[in-house]
Amino acid sequence: MTARSPNPGPEPLCWKCGAPNAMGSSECWLCQRADWNRYPIGYRRPSPPRRRPTIASGMITIAAIAGTIALFRDSPGMAMVLIILALPAMLLTAAKARRRAAIGDPMPMIERIARCVALMFLIPIYLILICGVMALAVVLVHRLLW
Ligand SMILES: [Zn+2]
Repeated sequence: MTARSPNPGPEPLCWKCGAPNAMGSSECWLCQRADWNRYPIGYRRPSPPRRRPTIASGMITIAAIAGTIALFRDSPGMAMVLIILALPAMLLTAAKARRRAAIGDPMPMIERIARCVALMFLIPIYLILICGVMALAVVLVHRLLW
């Protein structure tokens, strides 16, 4: 029985372009990134993310659509507010998830949902703060001009 190393001579790979680099290199020889070694040694460049919707995400989408339609029938105003809040939250989460998938760190479904919900609360708070600051600025400008 011979003891074999499962990983003979692991060479550090650039997380961005996948080029092997010498251990102490200050930058990637191929793409010149200074942070080429920011992921652990032996990191492999991820294959492009597959666009394959899971059963869970499909079910969540159907439930969300059904819920929105039901809410529309009950109170269209509330449904509109929900859509206005949910849409940017979903778009921001999707963009973040895509960026994470591109660097080989896909976002789990539970984190996506948590981020969506958190953003749905944070976005209106930010908007209110921005509106408040803008209103304050308008008031100050008026005071100065009069
Ligand atoms: Zn590189």
